[in-house]
Amino acid sequence: MNSPENEPHSRHDHRELGRDLDLFAGDPIVGSGLPLWLPAGSVIRDELERLARDIARADGCVSVHTPVLGKRALFEKSGHWAKFADDMFPPMALSDELPGDQLVLRPANCPHHAMIYASRQRSYRELPIRLNELAPMFRAERSGVVSGLTRVRQINLDDTHVFCRPDQVADEAESALRSALYAQRVLGLAVDYVRLSLPDDGPGYLGDPAVWADAGEALRRAAVAVDLASYGLEVVEAPGEAAFYGPKLDLQVIDGNGHEETIATVQLDFVQPQRFNLVYDGPHDRKEQVVMIHRGTVGSMERVTAALLERYDGRMPLWLNPIQLSVLPVSESVDAISREFVDTLVARGLRAQLDAAGSLGARIRNARARRDYAFAVIGDAEAADGSVQVNDVFAGYRGSLPREDVADILADAYAARSAPTWPKPAE
Ligand SMILES: [Zn+2]
Repeated sequence: MNSPENEPHSRHDHRELGRDLDLFAGDPIVGSGLPLWLPAGSVIRDELERLARDIARADGCVSVHTPVLGKRALFEKSGHWAKFADDMFPPMALSDELPGDQLVLRPANCPHHAMIYASRQRSYRELPIRLNELAPMFRAERSGVVSGLTRVRQINLDDTHVFCRPDQVADEAESALRSALYAQRVLGLAVDYVRLSLPDDGPGYLGDPAVWADAGEALRRAAVAVDLASYGLEVVEAPGEAAFYGPKLDLQVIDGNGHEETIATVQLDFVQPQRFNLVYDGPHDRKEQVVMIHRGTVGSMERVTAALLERYDGRMPLWLNPIQLSVLPVSESVDAISREFVDTLVARGLRAQLDAAGSLGARIRNARARRDYAFAVIGDAEAADGSVQVNDVFAGYRGSLPREDVADILADAYAARSAPTWPKPAE
């Protein structure tokens, strides 16, 4: 355990990091593509869920909970059955009921949210309505292609659906884009550019061309309002990249091999409202069709965790790290004081742990190998004067500081999801 060979090196593969750091596991009897989140991995996921919830709440979203199952008829109505049946798990027949009554695991959360909107009459004055849920959806991936966290059979997605009037689309798209960019910035994940995906001259785009033109313009205005230049980003218009059901704004990343991926999207949808007859009472007592916007910020828990592990080589930033500070007493005589310090940190909501067994050198190596955010050493001198030797491995900072100050600095940084502000000069 103490030899350098056992320390994880810069591998940049989330599957190895996940195994070495005890973040997630898999077992053939559970099934491939169905990762088990171990306690340390669950800390990361809980933090990501908390970030997603905080952003959704600040954006005026309300929380909803919907079942992972629905009748086949629901997905026939939404169009998923016709388009994605091959990627869905086979329907479950409970008795000799009609095919439409069979239950399926959902391939997307949108139809359930559409039915929440449709659950009562809506007035133009109560719009927009923003429904947020961090919910699982399912893909019948073949066992040969599933891999780590990036190809899985259950995807846990931070998912919001906004229902609004056409005149509210620009504001809603702006807020969604701003929040998606904010989330990626907090996570420390790069965005390369924003793509405005529009229709081309071809057929196959559902709905009124005038509505499409207005929606494209609304998204263009939203991208301008967000001031992408302040993020070092520009918007690139891409005719032909729109989905058949509406134009969208995509956050794009390009990897070292030139492979491009969409990591968050603000997607307008004119089709689901039509299929589900999602309407509101307009100002002139006429029923009008609502606009649906699919938006995400943090993304899927699986994809973002894999990206973060590879981005940070397993050593997560303070707010995400399963062990924010490990406290290492030099000798047994300072165990009690060290434990007291750990208790103080834990009482303040920090993830601190006492690591007392074995030689100090081995414990320091273990803290580094575990990718703890930081570790702190307490010897007789520190015990006597109330200080601690801090080593912030993530930031490359070392210093001797009062224990009270260390608790304050870590608690402030954690609350702000930022790096700790250690006093200068560093030792
Ligand atoms: Zn959706």
